[in-house]
Amino acid sequence: MSTVVWLEEVGKEDIPVVGGKGASLGEMIGIGVPVPGGFAVTAQAFRDFIERAGIAQQLFASLNVNVSNQESLLKAEAQAKKLIMEAKVPHDIEEAIKSRYNELCEREGEQVFVAVRSSATAEDLPDASFAGQQETYLNMRGADAVFDAVRKCWASLYGARAIFYRVEQGFDHEKVNLSAIVQIMVDSEKSGVMFSSQPSTGQPVVVIEAAWGLGETVVSGSVSPDNYEVDRSSRKIVNRYIASKEIMTVRDRTTGETVTIPVPADKKEAVVLTDSEILDLARYAEVLEKHYGMPQDIEFGVQGGKIYILQSRPITTIASGQKKGEPASSGKILISGLGASPGVATGEVRLISSSRDLDKIKQGDIMVTVMTMPDMVPGMRRAGAIVTDEGGMACHAAIVSRELGCPAVVGSKKATKVLKEGMLVTVDGTKGQVYEGRVVTEAAKASAAPTAGMAVSYKPITATEVKVNISEPSRAQAAAATLADGVGLLRIEHMILEMGKTPNYYIQNGLSEQYVDDLVKNIKVVADAFFPRPVWVRTLDAPTDEFRAMQGGEGEPHEHNPMLGWRGIRRDLTETDHFRLEVSAFKKLHQMGLTNVGIMLPLVQHFSELRRAKEIMVQEGLDLEKIDVGIMVETPAAALTIDEFIDEGLDFVSFGTNDLTQYTLAVDRNNENVAPLFTELHPAVIKLIEYVVERCRDAGVVTSICGQAGSYPEMAKRLVEIGISSISANIDAVAVVRETVARSELRMMLESLRE
Ligand code: PEP
Ligand code: MG
Repeated sequence: MSTVVWLEEVGKEDIPVVGGKGASLGEMIGIGVPVPGGFAVTAQAFRDFIERAGIAQQLFASLNVNVSNQESLLKAEAQAKKLIMEAKVPHDIEEAIKSRYNELCEREGEQVFVAVRSSATAEDLPDASFAGQQETYLNMRGADAVFDAVRKCWASLYGARAIFYRVEQGFDHEKVNLSAIVQIMVDSEKSGVMFSSQPSTGQPVVVIEAAWGLGETVVSGSVSPDNYEVDRSSRKIVNRYIASKEIMTVRDRTTGETVTIPVPADKKEAVVLTDSEILDLARYAEVLEKHYGMPQDIEFGVQGGKIYILQSRPITTIASGQKKGEPASSGKILISGLGASPGVATGEVRLISSSRDLDKIKQGDIMVTVMTMPDMVPGMRRAGAIVTDEGGMACHAAIVSRELGCPAVVGSKKATKVLKEGMLVTVDGTKGQVYEGRVVTEAAKASAAPTAGMAVSYKPITATEVKVNISEPSRAQAAAATLADGVGLLRIEHMILEMGKTPNYYIQNGLSEQYVDDLVKNIKVVADAFFPRPVWVRTLDAPTDEFRAMQGGEGEPHEHNPMLGWRGIRRDLTETDHFRLEVSAFKKLHQMGLTNVGIMLPLVQHFSELRRAKEIMVQEGLDLEKIDVGIMVETPAAALTIDEFIDEGLDFVSFGTNDLTQYTLAVDRNNENVAPLFTELHPAVIKLIEYVVERCRDAGVVTSICGQAGSYPEMAKRLVEIGISSISANIDAVAVVRETVARSELRMMLESLRE
């Protein structure tokens, strides 16, 4: 059996050789569908590697653990991956992979960028799907990089999620193999997705969505695409909607990295696909539907006027996913919004208007509300998914669901009106859609196993520290397992609001000591998990509307715009009683030896606020020589007067880009109507960040970011170039941000050597 085969040499009978993905690509080429060229490293090559390297026995023995115990599962993952990554690959296998890549480059006339994807296959059940459980490596170039990516794909067969899934589904690890598919990356000038039949009604109408640049923006829903419909019987374009396209993702031709940029003015309102491209695409969609015998969901790209089909998979319902007695679903989309937290879940709708309704939510129910509040977190923990009317990517529901690893769709505008109590729905938090009934997609199967906060076994060393954001003490272990360099933001308002009573309630009822103890208890969980790595705890930053629903919150003022109101440091300094209690909690933590706890002040806009806060800390007996005190830069005012803050004396600053962006651009972060305008990459926001980093660097003050943007690779890359000291990301983004940081630093070093 060969080690490598060209994609055009395989077909559907070759699933045991090249897995489902490889066979399907070969099959498409065979029926004349234009698929980017490439080859597969066969499943047998993987098998030969583990047998001939002599690691097979030890490998399978290491997987024999109780998978419901997270610790054992993660240990098994680490051991198995180490074996694969460190074993010697027989020379002939390595050479076959490298020389096939070189042949591919010769065929193309240049050293091509390729994607290396995993295509797993089970001996007993060749058509079993393991979609989404193994890794994909994009933008690989050069024989060594490709070989390395193939080995990483092999190792990803033993990711915790994949091990867990196989045991749960009764697959024998020894009978599951992996083929790695190496395929040229299309540098699409335009791209999109299409459905070979109308996805909600099943009518023979091809629905095409397209936008400029690479496909990410359409797939992720971050751009409104053009929409075209082709009637399959008359072969005519029957509908054409031209959207205003704001952003596009493009590939840097030298590095292969992708970046999101604004669409040039002359292309924003322009039609993306020509009529002949639309009709050609519709024809391919029809061919694919006929070939596979069911409606297809297809990704495509257009490069140099040539169409490429990148992926084709069945549209929706898989009968076996249905519970007895449940109606079959047509996959009808009920509402759409922003996919704020990835994953898929099916469950019954529970309409929640306040935290008083939370008891209604049983494990796995779908929580539907206008907007979540921090006092709703206990219900959010039980929810299978969360759907809101309001909000953008940095709203409360988005932040908390990502941390909890719970799928979420926010900013749908009408979820609480369209979705009815008890209705069975499927929420796709990746695509930002809610379907009627139970829709079991491949993504849903993949999301059946735990993902958020997966521990890592490999950590590149980076000069820029990579930290993690956390709001929930219950997620401290998962956050620490990312091996982050510390906690760049511990939000305490979620803990306080979850206690159900406002700080004033405690104070007025003689319960101040209990308030301090509760704070200490919660912060300690995180500080312990990270000790001695620093944990920057942010003082209370809850807007008045969030307090109002709580015991003691009855007298909270009604503000026109709570986001611009009495929150953060401004409240702490006018109502100093509870600030003093927070300070005494910090003092207690330090007395307990948790000297890694630092204090971060939110929403400052004038250096006198820092001065006053420090005076109170000293009055309460804090030794400012021994505890790090910093500010969040969340207002343009703080950024532009950073010199005054530096003169006042501070240990660090951290960019709260969720607020900094809303206050710089005048775009309410919670308002779905203006969500497309909310971009942390706006030149004005970047300029403020650059200015502060430069001033702080000169003064020896540490800089960091703890807004949502720190979790976006393109922002992370930009921040490394700007020279930030650390980046704090969400739990599920730490690993990818760390890789981005490592790569950006290396590139900068290489470039400086060339200069
Ligand atoms: C921010 O504003 O970026 C931030 C991290 O704080 P929050 O999201 O809690 O306002
Ligand atoms: Mg903020």
